[in-house]
Amino acid sequence: MAQAFIGLGSNLQQPAEQLRRALAALRTLPGTQLGAISSFYGNPAIGPGEQPDYVNAVAELHTTLEPMALLRRLQAIELAHGRVRTERWGARTLDLDLLLYDQQVIDEPDLTVPHPRLTERDFVLVPLAEIAPDLRLPDGSAVTDYRERTRSTLVKIGSFCPAD
Ligand code: ATP
Ligand code: MG
Ligand code: MG
Repeated sequence: MAQAFIGLGSNLQQPAEQLRRALAALRTLPGTQLGAISSFYGNPAIGPGEQPDYVNAVAELHTTLEPMALLRRLQAIELAHGRVRTERWGARTLDLDLLLYDQQVIDEPDLTVPHPRLTERDFVLVPLAEIAPDLRLPDGSAVTDYRERTRSTLVKIGSFCPAD
């Protein structure tokens, strides 16, 4: 089984609820088990125009799906949950990014792993460090090496409750 980390984000239509539904969908993927799930973090939107705040989280998966198959599954969940692709980095009901897949480095037209903006984003680094504080990236750096990013002011707004 491979260990993968998924970045979840939403800033439309009850974002926390979008993340809960996405986690429930991830749990049903073939050959896949949900591992650790971070807290949910509130995060002011960046990107074009005025947008509602984001809710972000990171989930660990144990999966037999290959990286490209996993990406296609993530995109299918995004679509099933009403994501409409308009402008890049625009508001969205659900974004599921493949952050890491074991220690693999993938550079394909549709898939770059580790996610190219992982180390620049506090809303990825903070939840990732929460659930995997000892994690290393394929380049040997540790998640916690990006200290100035993980000392951010993101606000924990709750956590995933499996009973929901
Ligand atoms: P960002 O990549 O900056 O987080 P985004 O998540 O809003 O932006 P999307 O519209 O969700 O971008 O995806 C754009 C394209 O990125 C997708 O068509 C997908 O093929 C590609 N992509 C490349 N690498 C990855 C990855 N690791 N995870 C998810 N999508 C990826
Ligand atoms: Mg994204
Ligand atoms: Mg995406």
